[in-house]
Amino acid sequence: MDKSQKINPVPFFSLGSSSTFLHNLHMIPTMDMAKLFASHGGVKTTIITTPLNAPIFAKAIQTTKNMSNHIAISVIKFPAEEAGLPDGCENVDQIHSEDMVPNFFKATTMLQGPLEHAIEEGHPDCLVADMFFPWATDIAAKFNIPRLVFHGTSVFALCAGENMRLYKPQKNVSSDYEPFIVPNLPHEVKITKMQLADHDKEDIETDFSKLLDKAIETEMTSFGVVVNSFHELEPAYADHYRRVLGRKAWHIGPVSLCNREVEDKAQRGKETSIDKLACLKWLDSKKPNSVIYVCFGSGAGFATSQLYEIAMGLEASGQEFIWVVRRAKNEDDNENWSPEGFEERTKDKGLIIRGWAPQVLILDHDAVGGFVTHCGWNSTLEGVSAGVPMVTWPFFADQFFNEKLVTEILKIGVCVGSDQQWKRGAIDGVKSEAIENAVKEIMVGEEAEERRRRARTLKEMASKAVEEGGSSHTDLNALIKELSAYQVQEYMET
Ligand code: UDP
Repeated sequence: MDKSQKINPVPFFSLGSSSTFLHNLHMIPTMDMAKLFASHGGVKTTIITTPLNAPIFAKAIQTTKNMSNHIAISVIKFPAEEAGLPDGCENVDQIHSEDMVPNFFKATTMLQGPLEHAIEEGHPDCLVADMFFPWATDIAAKFNIPRLVFHGTSVFALCAGENMRLYKPQKNVSSDYEPFIVPNLPHEVKITKMQLADHDKEDIETDFSKLLDKAIETEMTSFGVVVNSFHELEPAYADHYRRVLGRKAWHIGPVSLCNREVEDKAQRGKETSIDKLACLKWLDSKKPNSVIYVCFGSGAGFATSQLYEIAMGLEASGQEFIWVVRRAKNEDDNENWSPEGFEERTKDKGLIIRGWAPQVLILDHDAVGGFVTHCGWNSTLEGVSAGVPMVTWPFFADQFFNEKLVTEILKIGVCVGSDQQWKRGAIDGVKSEAIENAVKEIMVGEEAEERRRRARTLKEMASKAVEEGGSSHTDLNALIKELSAYQVQEYMET
Protein backbone atom coordinates (compact mmCIF):
# COMPACT_ATOMS: atom_id res chain seq x y z
CA MET A 1 0.00 0.00 0.00
CA ASP A 2 1.19 3.47 -0.83
CA LYS A 3 2.40 5.16 2.36
CA SER A 4 0.21 8.21 1.80
CA GLN A 5 -2.88 6.02 1.82
CA LYS A 6 -2.19 5.23 5.44
CA ILE A 7 -3.03 8.80 6.34
CA ASN A 8 -6.53 8.74 7.67
CA PRO A 9 -8.81 11.77 7.72
CA VAL A 10 -6.89 15.01 7.87
CA PRO A 11 -9.30 17.43 9.46
CA PHE A 12 -9.15 21.01 8.38
CA PHE A 13 -10.48 22.95 11.26
CA SER A 14 -12.22 25.87 9.70
CA LEU A 15 -14.76 28.26 11.02
CA GLY A 16 -15.02 30.21 7.91
CA SER A 17 -13.49 33.53 8.60
CA SER A 18 -11.84 33.26 11.94
CA SER A 19 -10.30 36.65 12.12
CA THR A 20 -12.10 39.88 12.26
CA PHE A 21 -9.07 42.00 11.72
CA LEU A 22 -7.48 40.12 8.89
CA HIS A 23 -10.78 39.72 7.11
CA ASN A 24 -9.58 36.50 5.60
CA LEU A 25 -12.23 34.28 4.20
CA HIS A 26 -10.24 31.20 5.05
CA MET A 27 -13.09 28.95 4.03
CA ILE A 28 -12.14 29.24 0.36
CA PRO A 29 -8.49 28.17 0.68
CA THR A 30 -9.53 25.56 3.27
CA MET A 31 -11.84 23.98 0.73
CA ASP A 32 -9.13 24.09 -1.92
CA MET A 33 -6.56 22.58 0.45
CA ALA A 34 -8.93 19.75 1.32
CA LYS A 35 -9.34 19.04 -2.41
CA LEU A 36 -5.56 19.09 -2.85
CA PHE A 37 -4.96 16.63 -0.03
CA ALA A 38 -7.73 14.44 -1.37
CA SER A 39 -6.26 14.42 -4.87
CA HIS A 40 -2.75 13.56 -3.62
CA GLY A 41 -2.70 9.85 -2.90
CA GLY A 42 -6.37 9.91 -1.95
CA VAL A 43 -5.83 11.33 1.55
CA LYS A 44 -9.19 11.43 3.26
CA THR A 45 -10.06 14.80 4.73
CA THR A 46 -12.71 16.01 7.10
CA ILE A 47 -13.63 19.68 7.30
CA ILE A 48 -14.72 20.60 10.80
CA THR A 49 -17.03 23.57 10.62
CA THR A 50 -20.15 25.13 12.13
CA PRO A 51 -23.81 24.84 11.03
CA LEU A 52 -24.11 28.02 8.97
CA ASN A 53 -20.87 27.42 7.08
CA ALA A 54 -21.38 23.73 6.46
CA PRO A 55 -23.72 24.07 3.42
CA ILE A 56 -21.11 26.17 1.59
CA PHE A 57 -18.55 23.39 1.96
CA ALA A 58 -21.13 20.72 1.17
CA LYS A 59 -22.05 22.40 -2.10
CA ALA A 60 -18.43 22.76 -3.16
CA ILE A 61 -17.77 19.08 -2.42
CA GLN A 62 -20.84 17.94 -4.32
CA THR A 63 -20.04 19.97 -7.43
CA THR A 64 -16.39 18.91 -7.64
CA LYS A 65 -15.80 15.70 -9.54
CA ASN A 66 -14.79 12.64 -7.47
CA MET A 67 -14.59 14.53 -4.19
CA SER A 68 -17.59 13.28 -2.25
CA ASN A 69 -15.86 10.01 -1.33
CA HIS A 70 -12.76 11.77 -0.07
CA ILE A 71 -13.98 14.84 1.81
CA ALA A 72 -16.34 14.66 4.76
CA ILE A 73 -17.83 17.43 6.86
CA SER A 74 -18.08 17.36 10.62
CA VAL A 75 -20.35 20.01 12.13
CA ILE A 76 -19.82 21.42 15.60
CA LYS A 77 -22.02 24.02 17.26
CA PHE A 78 -20.72 27.57 17.37
CA PRO A 79 -21.39 28.86 20.91
CA ALA A 80 -22.63 32.29 19.80
CA GLU A 81 -25.17 32.85 22.56
CA GLU A 82 -22.89 31.51 25.28
CA ALA A 83 -20.26 34.06 24.20
CA GLY A 84 -22.74 36.94 24.13
CA LEU A 85 -23.21 37.08 20.35
CA PRO A 86 -26.55 37.12 18.57
CA ASP A 87 -27.79 33.68 17.63
CA GLY A 88 -26.53 32.67 14.18
CA CYS A 89 -23.42 34.88 14.31
CA GLU A 90 -20.82 32.36 13.16
CA ASN A 91 -18.36 34.30 11.09
CA VAL A 92 -17.07 37.79 10.53
CA ASP A 93 -19.64 38.62 7.90
CA GLN A 94 -22.11 38.82 10.74
CA ILE A 95 -20.04 41.08 12.99
CA HIS A 96 -21.35 44.59 12.60
CA SER A 97 -19.68 46.44 15.46
CA GLU A 98 -16.29 46.61 17.14
CA ASP A 99 -17.65 45.50 20.53
CA MET A 100 -18.73 42.12 19.10
CA VAL A 101 -15.11 41.26 18.29
CA PRO A 102 -13.98 40.07 21.79
CA ASN A 103 -17.13 37.95 22.04
CA PHE A 104 -16.34 36.38 18.71
CA PHE A 105 -12.87 35.38 19.89
CA LYS A 106 -14.35 34.15 23.16
CA ALA A 107 -16.68 31.92 21.17
CA THR A 108 -13.79 30.50 19.13
CA THR A 109 -11.91 29.49 22.28
CA MET A 110 -15.04 27.71 23.51
CA LEU A 111 -14.71 25.35 20.54
CA GLN A 112 -11.96 23.39 22.23
CA GLY A 113 -14.31 20.83 23.79
CA PRO A 114 -16.32 20.18 20.60
CA LEU A 115 -13.08 19.89 18.60
CA GLU A 116 -11.69 17.31 21.04
CA HIS A 117 -14.89 15.36 20.68
CA ALA A 118 -14.71 15.50 16.88
CA ILE A 119 -11.12 14.23 16.97
CA GLU A 120 -12.05 11.44 19.38
CA GLU A 121 -14.74 10.31 16.96
CA GLY A 122 -12.82 10.73 13.72
CA HIS A 123 -9.37 9.33 14.75
CA PRO A 124 -7.48 11.58 12.33
CA ASP A 125 -3.76 11.38 11.75
CA CYS A 126 -3.18 15.11 11.52
CA LEU A 127 -4.93 18.37 12.31
CA VAL A 128 -4.66 21.46 10.11
CA ALA A 129 -5.92 24.48 12.03
CA ASP A 130 -6.01 28.18 11.40
CA MET A 131 -3.45 30.33 13.24
CA PHE A 132 -6.25 31.88 15.30
CA PHE A 133 -6.79 28.59 17.11
CA PRO A 134 -3.45 28.41 18.97
CA TRP A 135 -4.92 25.92 21.48
CA ALA A 136 -5.35 23.41 18.63
CA THR A 137 -1.66 22.47 19.04
CA ASP A 138 -2.30 21.24 22.60
CA ILE A 139 -5.37 19.31 21.52
CA ALA A 140 -3.43 17.63 18.71
CA ALA A 141 -0.65 16.76 21.20
CA LYS A 142 -3.21 15.19 23.53
CA PHE A 143 -4.16 12.80 20.73
CA ASN A 144 -0.55 12.30 19.60
CA ILE A 145 -1.19 13.75 16.18
CA PRO A 146 0.74 16.54 14.43
CA ARG A 147 -0.86 19.98 14.12
CA LEU A 148 -0.23 22.08 11.03
CA VAL A 149 -0.79 25.85 11.11
CA PHE A 150 -2.46 27.72 8.26
CA HIS A 151 -2.04 31.52 8.10
CA GLY A 152 -3.68 32.34 4.81
CA THR A 153 -1.17 35.01 3.83
CA SER A 154 2.04 35.37 1.80
CA VAL A 155 5.33 34.16 3.18
CA PHE A 156 6.59 37.70 2.50
CA ALA A 157 3.97 39.09 4.93
CA LEU A 158 4.81 36.36 7.46
CA CYS A 159 8.51 37.31 7.35
CA ALA A 160 7.83 41.07 7.47
CA GLY A 161 5.37 40.64 10.35
CA GLU A 162 7.76 38.48 12.35
CA ASN A 163 10.68 40.89 11.87
CA MET A 164 8.46 43.78 12.96
CA ARG A 165 7.61 41.81 16.09
CA LEU A 166 11.23 40.93 16.81
CA TYR A 167 12.88 44.31 16.12
CA LYS A 168 10.08 46.87 16.61
CA PRO A 169 11.55 49.47 14.20
CA GLN A 170 8.35 51.55 14.51
CA LYS A 171 9.50 52.63 17.97
CA ASN A 172 12.28 54.73 16.45
CA VAL A 173 10.24 56.99 14.18
CA SER A 174 9.04 60.42 15.15
CA SER A 175 5.92 60.57 13.02
CA ASP A 176 3.21 58.16 11.91
CA TYR A 177 3.96 58.99 8.27
CA GLU A 178 7.76 58.65 8.41
CA PRO A 179 8.82 55.64 6.32
CA PHE A 180 11.14 53.15 8.00
CA ILE A 181 12.81 49.95 6.86
CA VAL A 182 11.39 46.60 7.94
CA PRO A 183 14.61 45.10 9.37
CA ASN A 184 16.40 41.95 8.35
CA LEU A 185 14.47 41.23 5.15
CA PRO A 186 16.17 40.12 1.92
CA HIS A 187 15.00 43.36 0.21
CA GLU A 188 14.83 46.95 1.46
CA VAL A 189 11.14 47.39 2.23
CA LYS A 190 9.80 50.58 3.76
CA ILE A 191 6.52 51.10 5.54
CA THR A 192 4.93 53.73 7.81
CA LYS A 193 3.22 53.40 11.17
CA MET A 194 -0.04 54.45 9.51
CA GLN A 195 0.11 51.31 7.39
CA LEU A 196 0.49 49.02 10.40
CA ALA A 197 -2.31 47.31 12.25
CA ASP A 198 -2.96 48.69 15.75
CA HIS A 199 -1.30 45.75 17.50
CA ASP A 200 1.94 46.40 15.54
CA LYS A 201 1.72 50.17 15.77
CA GLU A 202 1.52 50.55 19.52
CA ASP A 203 3.40 48.34 21.91
CA ILE A 204 0.46 47.74 24.20
CA GLU A 205 -0.95 44.47 25.35
CA THR A 206 -4.51 43.76 24.31
CA ASP A 207 -6.52 40.55 24.17
CA PHE A 208 -5.84 40.44 20.45
CA SER A 209 -2.08 40.98 20.81
CA LYS A 210 -2.02 38.20 23.45
CA LEU A 211 -3.81 35.90 21.00
CA LEU A 212 -1.25 36.71 18.31
CA ASP A 213 1.65 36.07 20.71
CA LYS A 214 0.14 32.74 21.61
CA ALA A 215 -0.33 31.95 17.90
CA ILE A 216 3.38 32.58 17.25
CA GLU A 217 4.41 30.57 20.28
CA THR A 218 2.39 27.56 19.21
CA GLU A 219 3.58 27.92 15.62
CA MET A 220 7.05 27.08 16.93
CA THR A 221 5.81 24.01 18.80
CA SER A 222 3.51 22.72 16.08
CA PHE A 223 4.52 20.27 13.34
CA GLY A 224 4.87 23.11 10.84
CA VAL A 225 3.16 25.62 8.61
CA VAL A 226 1.33 25.09 5.32
CA VAL A 227 1.62 28.11 3.06
CA ASN A 228 -0.67 29.00 0.18
CA SER A 229 2.11 30.20 -2.10
CA PHE A 230 4.74 28.67 -4.35
CA HIS A 231 8.47 28.72 -3.95
CA GLU A 232 9.26 30.52 -7.23
CA LEU A 233 7.02 33.47 -6.31
CA GLU A 234 8.85 34.44 -3.12
CA PRO A 235 12.05 32.35 -3.12
CA ALA A 236 14.07 34.69 -0.88
CA TYR A 237 11.25 34.78 1.66
CA ALA A 238 10.55 31.06 1.56
CA ASP A 239 14.22 30.67 2.42
CA HIS A 240 14.18 33.42 5.07
CA TYR A 241 11.14 31.89 6.75
CA ARG A 242 12.76 28.49 6.96
CA ARG A 243 16.42 29.31 7.52
CA VAL A 244 16.44 32.64 9.36
CA LEU A 245 13.14 32.50 11.22
CA GLY A 246 13.42 28.76 11.80
CA ARG A 247 9.94 27.73 10.66
CA LYS A 248 9.21 24.39 9.13
CA ALA A 249 7.00 25.20 6.15
CA TRP A 250 5.53 23.56 3.08
CA HIS A 251 4.52 25.72 0.12
CA ILE A 252 1.59 23.99 -1.52
CA GLY A 253 -0.08 26.74 -3.57
CA PRO A 254 -1.59 28.41 -5.42
CA VAL A 255 -4.34 26.22 -3.99
CA SER A 256 -6.98 27.90 -6.19
CA LEU A 257 -5.39 26.21 -9.22
CA CYS A 258 -6.95 22.90 -8.17
CA ASN A 259 -10.19 24.31 -9.64
CA ARG A 260 -9.90 23.49 -13.30
CA GLU A 261 -13.50 23.24 -14.48
CA VAL A 262 -15.73 26.28 -15.08
CA GLU A 263 -18.16 24.94 -12.49
CA ASP A 264 -15.46 24.63 -9.80
CA LYS A 265 -14.14 28.12 -10.47
CA ALA A 266 -17.62 29.61 -10.31
CA GLN A 267 -18.57 27.80 -7.08
CA ARG A 268 -15.96 29.26 -4.76
CA GLY A 269 -17.42 30.96 -1.70
CA LYS A 270 -20.91 32.40 -1.86
CA GLU A 271 -23.64 32.06 -4.46
CA THR A 272 -22.67 34.31 -7.37
CA SER A 273 -24.86 37.33 -8.11
CA ILE A 274 -24.44 36.88 -11.84
CA ASP A 275 -24.95 33.84 -14.04
CA LYS A 276 -21.50 32.44 -14.87
CA LEU A 277 -22.37 31.90 -18.52
CA ALA A 278 -23.70 35.45 -18.90
CA CYS A 279 -20.48 36.71 -17.39
CA LEU A 280 -18.35 34.60 -19.75
CA LYS A 281 -20.45 35.72 -22.73
CA TRP A 282 -19.85 39.36 -21.82
CA LEU A 283 -16.10 38.72 -21.52
CA ASP A 284 -16.04 36.75 -24.79
CA SER A 285 -17.27 39.87 -26.58
CA LYS A 286 -14.19 41.84 -25.44
CA LYS A 287 -10.65 41.99 -26.83
CA PRO A 288 -7.77 40.29 -24.98
CA ASN A 289 -6.40 42.34 -22.06
CA SER A 290 -8.99 45.07 -22.52
CA VAL A 291 -11.01 44.71 -19.29
CA ILE A 292 -10.05 45.83 -15.80
CA TYR A 293 -11.63 43.75 -13.02
CA VAL A 294 -12.39 45.68 -9.82
CA CYS A 295 -13.15 43.68 -6.67
CA PHE A 296 -12.14 44.07 -3.05
CA GLY A 297 -12.58 40.66 -1.48
CA SER A 298 -15.30 39.30 0.71
CA GLY A 299 -15.56 41.78 3.54
CA ALA A 300 -14.82 45.37 2.63
CA GLY A 301 -17.78 47.70 2.12
CA PHE A 302 -17.51 51.21 0.75
CA ALA A 303 -18.99 54.56 1.68
CA THR A 304 -21.42 55.88 -0.93
CA SER A 305 -19.02 58.79 -1.58
CA GLN A 306 -16.19 56.35 -2.37
CA LEU A 307 -18.36 54.39 -4.80
CA TYR A 308 -19.05 57.67 -6.56
CA GLU A 309 -15.29 58.34 -6.86
CA ILE A 310 -14.62 54.83 -8.20
CA ALA A 311 -17.35 55.27 -10.82
CA MET A 312 -15.89 58.62 -11.90
CA GLY A 313 -12.37 57.19 -12.01
CA LEU A 314 -13.35 54.15 -14.05
CA GLU A 315 -15.32 56.19 -16.55
CA ALA A 316 -12.52 58.74 -16.94
CA SER A 317 -9.97 55.97 -17.50
CA GLY A 318 -11.81 55.02 -20.71
CA GLN A 319 -11.24 51.31 -19.98
CA GLU A 320 -13.77 48.51 -20.13
CA PHE A 321 -14.47 47.11 -16.69
CA ILE A 322 -16.15 44.59 -14.44
CA TRP A 323 -16.84 46.19 -11.08
CA VAL A 324 -18.03 44.22 -8.05
CA VAL A 325 -19.88 46.82 -6.03
CA ARG A 326 -20.29 46.35 -2.31
CA ARG A 327 -21.61 49.10 -0.12
CA ALA A 328 -20.84 49.23 3.62
CA LYS A 329 -23.59 47.72 5.75
CA ASN A 330 -24.13 50.92 7.72
CA GLU A 331 -24.47 53.14 4.64
CA ASP A 332 -28.01 54.23 3.80
CA ASP A 333 -29.83 52.31 1.12
CA ASN A 334 -29.88 55.21 -1.28
CA GLU A 335 -29.36 53.63 -4.71
CA ASN A 336 -27.95 56.92 -5.94
CA TRP A 337 -24.30 56.13 -5.39
CA SER A 338 -23.16 56.64 -8.98
CA PRO A 339 -22.75 59.86 -10.94
CA GLU A 340 -25.86 60.80 -12.90
CA GLY A 341 -26.19 58.74 -16.09
CA PHE A 342 -23.09 56.65 -15.27
CA GLU A 343 -24.65 53.24 -15.81
CA GLU A 344 -26.36 54.34 -19.03
CA ARG A 345 -23.18 55.93 -20.45
CA THR A 346 -21.02 52.92 -19.59
CA LYS A 347 -23.51 50.15 -20.38
CA ASP A 348 -21.45 48.82 -23.28
CA LYS A 349 -18.14 49.26 -21.50
CA GLY A 350 -18.88 48.08 -18.02
CA LEU A 351 -20.42 45.15 -16.22
CA ILE A 352 -21.53 45.89 -12.67
CA ILE A 353 -21.95 42.97 -10.28
CA ARG A 354 -23.79 43.80 -7.07
CA GLY A 355 -22.81 41.12 -4.59
CA TRP A 356 -20.58 38.10 -5.24
CA ALA A 357 -18.61 37.55 -8.44
CA PRO A 358 -17.15 34.31 -9.87
CA GLN A 359 -13.71 35.86 -9.37
CA VAL A 360 -11.38 33.12 -10.54
CA LEU A 361 -13.49 32.52 -13.62
CA ILE A 362 -13.28 36.22 -14.48
CA LEU A 363 -9.56 36.61 -13.76
CA ASP A 364 -8.72 33.58 -15.90
CA HIS A 365 -10.46 35.02 -18.98
CA ASP A 366 -8.18 36.38 -21.73
CA ALA A 367 -10.16 39.61 -21.93
CA VAL A 368 -9.09 40.60 -18.40
CA GLY A 369 -5.94 42.72 -18.51
CA GLY A 370 -5.84 44.23 -15.03
CA PHE A 371 -7.18 43.80 -11.49
CA VAL A 372 -7.92 46.51 -8.92
CA THR A 373 -7.50 44.64 -5.62
CA HIS A 374 -7.34 45.25 -1.88
CA CYS A 375 -4.39 42.82 -1.77
CA GLY A 376 -6.11 40.17 0.32
CA TRP A 377 -3.75 37.24 -0.13
CA ASN A 378 -6.24 34.99 -1.91
CA SER A 379 -7.09 37.68 -4.45
CA THR A 380 -3.43 38.60 -4.90
CA LEU A 381 -2.42 35.02 -5.57
CA GLU A 382 -5.40 34.48 -7.86
CA GLY A 383 -4.27 37.57 -9.81
CA VAL A 384 -0.73 36.15 -10.01
CA SER A 385 -2.05 32.74 -11.11
CA ALA A 386 -4.07 34.40 -13.87
CA GLY A 387 -1.07 36.47 -15.05
CA VAL A 388 -2.86 39.75 -14.44
CA PRO A 389 -1.10 42.97 -13.34
CA MET A 390 -2.72 44.75 -10.42
CA VAL A 391 -3.71 48.16 -9.08
CA THR A 392 -3.14 47.84 -5.33
CA TRP A 393 -5.49 49.41 -2.81
CA PRO A 394 -4.86 47.82 0.60
CA PHE A 395 -7.16 48.45 3.59
CA PHE A 396 -6.13 46.33 6.55
CA ALA A 397 -3.62 44.04 8.19
CA ASP A 398 -1.27 42.04 5.92
CA GLN A 399 -2.66 43.72 2.78
CA PHE A 400 -0.07 46.52 3.03
CA PHE A 401 2.76 43.98 3.03
CA ASN A 402 1.17 42.13 0.10
CA GLU A 403 1.07 45.45 -1.77
CA LYS A 404 4.84 45.81 -1.29
CA LEU A 405 5.38 42.32 -2.66
CA VAL A 406 3.28 43.02 -5.75
CA THR A 407 4.57 46.50 -6.56
CA GLU A 408 8.19 46.54 -5.34
CA ILE A 409 9.38 42.95 -5.45
CA LEU A 410 7.38 41.26 -8.20
CA LYS A 411 6.95 44.59 -10.04
CA ILE A 412 3.55 43.69 -11.43
CA GLY A 413 1.52 46.39 -9.71
CA VAL A 414 0.77 50.09 -9.38
CA CYS A 415 -0.31 51.62 -6.04
CA VAL A 416 -3.51 53.66 -5.97
CA GLY A 417 -2.09 55.54 -2.98
CA SER A 418 -3.74 53.98 0.06
CA ASP A 419 -1.58 55.19 2.93
CA GLN A 420 -3.32 54.08 6.11
CA GLN A 421 -4.96 51.09 7.72
CA TRP A 422 -8.70 51.44 7.55
CA LYS A 423 -10.59 51.06 10.82
CA ARG A 424 -13.92 49.30 10.91
CA GLY A 425 -16.59 51.16 8.92
CA ALA A 426 -17.16 52.29 5.39
CA ILE A 427 -14.06 52.63 3.21
CA ASP A 428 -13.51 56.10 1.83
CA GLY A 429 -10.84 58.64 0.90
CA VAL A 430 -9.32 57.77 -2.50
CA LYS A 431 -10.09 60.33 -5.17
CA SER A 432 -11.28 59.56 -8.69
CA GLU A 433 -8.13 61.04 -10.28
CA ALA A 434 -5.92 58.58 -8.38
CA ILE A 435 -8.11 55.69 -9.52
CA GLU A 436 -8.20 56.92 -13.13
CA ASN A 437 -4.40 57.33 -13.24
CA ALA A 438 -3.62 53.97 -11.67
CA VAL A 439 -6.06 52.15 -13.98
CA LYS A 440 -4.59 53.83 -17.08
CA GLU A 441 -1.07 53.05 -15.90
CA ILE A 442 -1.83 49.34 -15.42
CA MET A 443 -3.73 48.98 -18.71
CA VAL A 444 -1.92 51.06 -21.33
CA GLY A 445 1.60 51.99 -22.39
CA GLU A 446 5.08 50.53 -22.62
CA GLU A 447 5.50 49.97 -18.87
CA ALA A 448 2.09 48.31 -18.71
CA GLU A 449 3.25 45.82 -21.34
CA GLU A 450 6.41 45.07 -19.36
CA ARG A 451 4.38 44.51 -16.21
CA ARG A 452 2.05 42.24 -18.14
CA ARG A 453 5.00 40.22 -19.47
CA ARG A 454 6.31 39.73 -15.94
CA ALA A 455 2.83 38.77 -14.74
CA ARG A 456 2.53 36.20 -17.52
CA THR A 457 5.85 34.64 -16.57
CA LEU A 458 4.62 34.29 -12.98
CA LYS A 459 1.42 32.69 -14.23
CA GLU A 460 3.44 30.05 -16.06
CA MET A 461 5.57 29.46 -12.96
CA ALA A 462 2.44 29.09 -10.82
CA SER A 463 0.91 26.56 -13.13
CA LYS A 464 4.16 24.55 -13.32
CA ALA A 465 4.48 24.61 -9.51
CA VAL A 466 1.26 22.64 -9.05
CA GLU A 467 1.88 20.16 -11.86
CA GLU A 468 3.45 16.77 -11.19
CA GLY A 469 7.13 17.38 -10.41
CA GLY A 470 6.54 21.09 -9.73
CA SER A 471 7.69 22.69 -6.48
CA SER A 472 4.29 22.83 -4.73
CA HIS A 473 3.32 19.37 -5.91
CA THR A 474 6.62 18.02 -4.59
CA ASP A 475 6.29 19.92 -1.29
CA LEU A 476 2.80 18.52 -0.72
CA ASN A 477 4.02 14.98 -1.45
CA ALA A 478 6.91 15.53 0.96
CA LEU A 479 4.48 16.73 3.64
CA ILE A 480 2.21 13.72 3.19
CA LYS A 481 5.26 11.44 3.38
CA GLU A 482 6.39 13.10 6.62
CA LEU A 483 2.93 12.74 8.08
CA SER A 484 2.95 9.04 7.16
CA ALA A 485 6.38 8.60 8.77
CA TYR A 486 5.13 10.37 11.92
CA GLN A 487 2.20 8.01 12.07
CA VAL A 488 4.38 4.93 11.65
CA GLN A 489 6.79 6.19 14.32
CA GLU A 490 3.92 6.82 16.74
CA TYR A 491 2.66 3.31 16.05
CA MET A 492 6.09 1.79 16.75
CA GLU A 493 6.41 3.72 19.99
CA THR A 494 3.07 2.59 21.35
N1 UDP B 1 -14.21 36.32 -3.94
C1 UDP B 1 -15.06 35.89 -4.94
N2 UDP B 1 -16.02 36.76 -5.36
C2 UDP B 1 -16.19 38.00 -4.83
C3 UDP B 1 -15.31 38.41 -3.82
C4 UDP B 1 -14.32 37.56 -3.40
O1 UDP B 1 -14.94 34.77 -5.44
O2 UDP B 1 -17.08 38.73 -5.27
C5 UDP B 1 -13.19 35.37 -3.42
C6 UDP B 1 -11.84 35.61 -4.05
O3 UDP B 1 -11.69 34.85 -5.22
C7 UDP B 1 -10.90 35.17 -2.92
C8 UDP B 1 -11.67 35.45 -1.66
O4 UDP B 1 -13.03 35.59 -2.04
O5 UDP B 1 -10.66 33.78 -3.02
C9 UDP B 1 -11.25 36.75 -0.98
O6 UDP B 1 -10.11 36.50 -0.23
P1 UDP B 1 -8.99 37.59 0.00
O7 UDP B 1 -7.93 36.95 0.82
O8 UDP B 1 -8.55 38.16 -1.28
O9 UDP B 1 -9.70 38.77 0.73
P2 UDP B 1 -10.64 38.86 2.02
O10 UDP B 1 -12.01 38.54 1.59
O11 UDP B 1 -10.10 37.86 3.01
O12 UDP B 1 -10.48 40.28 2.46
